[in-house]
Amino acid sequence: MKVLSENQDIHIIGQGLVGSLLAWRLMEEGYSPLVFDKGHATASSMVAAGMWNPVNFKRLNVGQHPEQYLAAMHSTYPRLEHWLGTSFFKPLPIARLFDSQEEINQWDIQSALGKLSARYLTQTDYAATHPSVRRPLGAGLVAEGGRVDLPTLLEAMRRKLEERGALVSSHYSSNETDALVIHCTGMSIVQDPLWHWLPMAPNKGQVLTVRINDFDPTQIYHFGRFVVPLHHDTYKLGSTYELRPTDTTPDPNVAQEMLNDYSATIDRPCEVVEHRAGYRPTTYDRMPIVGPHPQNPKHYVCNGFGSRGVYYAPLCIEHLVDHLLHGTALPKDISIARTLKFFPSSSVTEA
Ligand SMILES: Cc1cc2nc3c(=O)[nH]c(=O)nc-3n(C[C@H](O)[C@H](O)[C@H](O)COP(=O)(O)OP(=O)(O)OC[C@H]3O[C@@H](n4cnc5c(N)ncnc54)[C@H](O)[C@@H]3O)c2cc1C
Repeated sequence: MKVLSENQDIHIIGQGLVGSLLAWRLMEEGYSPLVFDKGHATASSMVAAGMWNPVNFKRLNVGQHPEQYLAAMHSTYPRLEHWLGTSFFKPLPIARLFDSQEEINQWDIQSALGKLSARYLTQTDYAATHPSVRRPLGAGLVAEGGRVDLPTLLEAMRRKLEERGALVSSHYSSNETDALVIHCTGMSIVQDPLWHWLPMAPNKGQVLTVRINDFDPTQIYHFGRFVVPLHHDTYKLGSTYELRPTDTTPDPNVAQEMLNDYSATIDRPCEVVEHRAGYRPTTYDRMPIVGPHPQNPKHYVCNGFGSRGVYYAPLCIEHLVDHLLHGTALPKDISIARTLKFFPSSSVTEA
């Protein structure tokens, strides 16, 4: 059964990446959602490097449904760029710098196998690196990577929503509403009495914006850290993964560790322009959580995009829009149904 009637009021809480994409998709479908944001102070989207990479380098695999995630990305971001009249979507290959012969052997085995071959991993001897890269063993290339400039997307979306009178720049608190309320609040969700039971596992990340003259803006470099080209000799250098964090303060010692790793790998002077930190909205099983509240079906959640918001959000939002408009069931791997065992009430059964 479809969830949205024709003139249904919709409130979206949060104008990070997820709330922005959802608001735009609902507008495309003829709805007029009202978006609330308290000013992006806690927005993970404003800190993120914005990189996407379908390949997991630790396990050297591509996870579930890579074709669908990539297709949704390549359909969503260029269309949104056109609608907003700005540019933020940049496909770029990722050069994975090798540490050992064993890594090269693994890469060659995987790139020769059906699942990862051709589209995802190129042969190792195809990857050319900049002369200043100090890795004699070379690199393998991931062809399907890239970067979304999230601050540009969020800023353009904020202006568009303001033009339409569809943005309320304040903290959302109203519980007395007939609207369908969709919570896209990132890590702030852990303080929300309606949702505090969701199995979120905040993960602090720190990232530097750096200036590097005469380096290589044509690809992303990955060596445990990443160097992602932005524009005019500026790059993102990152990032860290810190479990059980207590705050989002940037730590100068952590910045120094990232710079040491950079200097050991790339022989070009690098000047720090900015150092930022934030929480990734990560879940216990590292998949997003989408769907209705178990006791209050006027409230939906779309959250838990962890370190892969850019890659996961377009397809997950398509699934949510299909569900709201046509009553289509949400896929099990992202549905809130899998988390109901954490809800503090024995009366709820899984959908
Ligand atoms: C250091 C770092 C590096 C990262 N790098 C990458 C990367 O390279 N690639 C990638 O895909 N992902 C990356 N991420 C993760 C990425 O940032 C997230 O997956 C994504 O941005 C989550 O978007 P969101 O919209 O769910 O949350 P957010 O961006 O956090 O947005 C939530 C919004 O909700 C608003 N809000 C919350 N509560 C309320 C309320 N009650 N009323 C009104 N407004 C409210 C906030 O102001 C905020 O603007 C990184 C994260 C960090 C911290």
